[in-house]
Amino acid sequence: MKVIVLGAGIVGTASAWFLQKAGHDVTVIDRQPGAAQETSFANGGQISVSHAEPWANPSAPLKLLKWLGREDAPLLFRLRPDWLQWRWGLSFLRECTPARTAHNIRQIVTIAEYSRQTLQAVRAETGIAYDCEARGILHFYTDEAEFRQSLAAAKLMRELGVPRNTIDADEVVRIEPALAAIRHKIAGGDFTATDESGDIYKFTTGLAQHCVQAGVQFRFDTQVTRLLTEGSGAAAKISAVEVIDEHGRHQLLRADSFVIAMGSFSQPLAKSVGIDLMLYPGKGYSATYQVRDPERAPQVSLTDDGHKLVISRLGDRLRVAGTAELNGYTRELNPVRCEAITHRTRELFPNACDYDNPQYWTGLRPLTPSNVPYIGKTKFANLYLNTGHGTLGWTMGCGSGKAIADIVSGRRPDIDFAFTGMAPQHRGRPLVSVPAKG
Ligand SMILES: Cc1cc2nc3c(=O)[nH]c(=O)nc-3n(C[C@H](O)[C@H](O)[C@H](O)COP(=O)(O)OP(=O)(O)OC[C@H]3O[C@@H](n4cnc5c(N)ncnc54)[C@H](O)[C@@H]3O)c2cc1C
Repeated sequence: MKVIVLGAGIVGTASAWFLQKAGHDVTVIDRQPGAAQETSFANGGQISVSHAEPWANPSAPLKLLKWLGREDAPLLFRLRPDWLQWRWGLSFLRECTPARTAHNIRQIVTIAEYSRQTLQAVRAETGIAYDCEARGILHFYTDEAEFRQSLAAAKLMRELGVPRNTIDADEVVRIEPALAAIRHKIAGGDFTATDESGDIYKFTTGLAQHCVQAGVQFRFDTQVTRLLTEGSGAAAKISAVEVIDEHGRHQLLRADSFVIAMGSFSQPLAKSVGIDLMLYPGKGYSATYQVRDPERAPQVSLTDDGHKLVISRLGDRLRVAGTAELNGYTRELNPVRCEAITHRTRELFPNACDYDNPQYWTGLRPLTPSNVPYIGKTKFANLYLNTGHGTLGWTMGCGSGKAIADIVSGRRPDIDFAFTGMAPQHRGRPLVSVPAKG
């Protein structure tokens, strides 16, 4: 079967890899000159099953109100005359009830755990080098109240089979000695030894090369402009995708099946054929520093709860990422946010890096209100979705690629996840057993 994948970020590239392995003839289209040039370029690097709790949770509404209008807020809603943003915001609030939060965590843990296992298998098979550190993720708290609140989340993760163990400040510093300078400020932490980190760009571009060797065709510098449909009702399908190629020519590309994996830009494309995705861009920032003193820079991937930052060592670089701004599709760098990241990193790891020459970057997380991605079928028999991976696209990317390849191939996916457009009896086995509560 001929399959066209729209988008060459981590999600589209992983989809292409597994579709090719399933025996399909695969073409990937992307407007950029190479793979992983947009959101999958310079993210926080964490493969963090342990952080499956979505932003939409019972404590979020109050925090959001407190942060409204604060330039350095970890999550900032810039209210705009934009119907999608308001609708998304209301839907986000609906996802904040304890019952919805528990349901969403279960979904995210399922796909994230599956995805980490899939990533490990791809790594073993391909040998892609991407500055992977399989040393766990250490979450530390500098606020006593936040630490106390985190105990319930850590307990829930343990109940779901994720070994997120609560630890005291001494243990935090024992696991990551580079935190010694702020030992007196640490209230406590939790550590998940099974989590990992690594460079998403190196991995995705490496996987794209392996895809090419396996026969996948990539068409870069090619803008997707619209989907063409034919038939109606149950017989409705996509007949072609219209693109503007690298020479500026309009072309119609035909295939048996199409997978939308265009991150935040999946929303307008799907909307144009009547599929209304609740997907909004959440701008995030990262800073990358050259490590000057390897002893003072952390090796273990960290989450700094107080500043909502994640920190990953990528070889001789330190990547620090975080913050979210819901303000449309702009990727402009806000100097206040950039400087706040450097200020905090310097405070945590004085003299560890070259803080005078940071590389700042922004990316648009494709956010659903629940942070549960859309993976599965649509009302068009040959159009599939693999998008909306929000804050955890690196964590969930490989597993999502494998699952969509199964679905496109007419096979039952391995896991019991709320796949879009699929009844529970067509899903795989439960990966996690969940206590009924909420
Ligand atoms: C600051 C920050 C930190 C993050 N940290 C982490 C982390 O630590 N762990 C984690 O798991 N996740 C993290 N994420 C989330 C993760 O990076 C994303 O969820 C993931 O990269 C999304 O991948 P994607 O393939 O869906 O989208 P993208 O990587 O954006 O890929 C979509 C592709 O579609 C292409 N495209 C779009 N429109 C068109 C068009 N019209 N025509 C042709 N091509 C088009 C784009 O060029 C792009 O290549 C972070 C995100 C940010 C912003």
